[in-house]
Amino acid sequence: MTRMLIVGPPGAGKGTQSKKISEEHGIIAISTGDIFRENIKGQTELGKEAQKYVDAGNLVPDSVTNRMIEDRLTWDDAKDGFLLDGYPRNRTQVAAFDEITSRLDVELDVVLELTADREELISRLVRRAEIDGRADDTEDVIRHRLEVFEQETAPMIEEYRQRGVLKQVDGLGAVEEVGARIAEALKA
Ligand code: ADP
Repeated sequence: MTRMLIVGPPGAGKGTQSKKISEEHGIIAISTGDIFRENIKGQTELGKEAQKYVDAGNLVPDSVTNRMIEDRLTWDDAKDGFLLDGYPRNRTQVAAFDEITSRLDVELDVVLELTADREELISRLVRRAEIDGRADDTEDVIRHRLEVFEQETAPMIEEYRQRGVLKQVDGLGAVEEVGARIAEALKA
C-alpha cells in the first residue's frame, strides 16, 4: 500500500493517524488543511486566497486546491508513495484527482475511511479548539464544517466505495486502538 487517501469527518482523527501510517509505511503524509494553514500563517499568495474560506469552514475553490495538489505530488518525496489527508473532498476533486494520477501514471491503492458519530466529533473539536486555538474551531464553524462534510464529502466517499477501494475503520477509542484497527485493515 503506497498510495492512499485518508477520509472522514472533521475531528475523526485523520491527522493523528496519518502521522502513524506515514511512519509505518514510509510514505509522506500530505494534509491540504496543514498546507492551507501554513500558507495563511506566512500570508503567501495561496494563503491570502484561501483564508476567508478556511476561516468560514467552507471549501477553498476546487481550481486552487487541485492545482496545489498536482504541484505537491510532483515533488521528489511523493514519487514512491503518499498519503493524502483532506483531499479529494468532493466529487469535482475526485475527477481532478483521477486526471492527476493518470498524468503522473500512478494508481491509488486504498481509501481509508475513519468514522465517528457527530456528538463525539463536536466534543473532540471543541476540546482541540481549547488546546490549538485553530481559528476554524469555534462551535458555529465546526457545525458548518460537519455540514459541508455531509453534503459534499460523504457522496465522494460513496463513489470510492462503489469502486471497491474503500476500507472503513471505527475512529472511536484511544489513538493506539484506532491505529491498531487501521494496521489490521491495511493488511487485509
Ligand atoms: P477538518 O477536516 O478538521 O475540518 P482540515 O485541516 O482537513 O480540517 O481542513 C481545514 C480547512 O481547510 C477546510 O475547512 C477547508 O477550508 C480547507 N480545505 C482542506 N482541504 C481542502 C480541500 N481538499 N478542498 C477545499 N478546501 C480544503
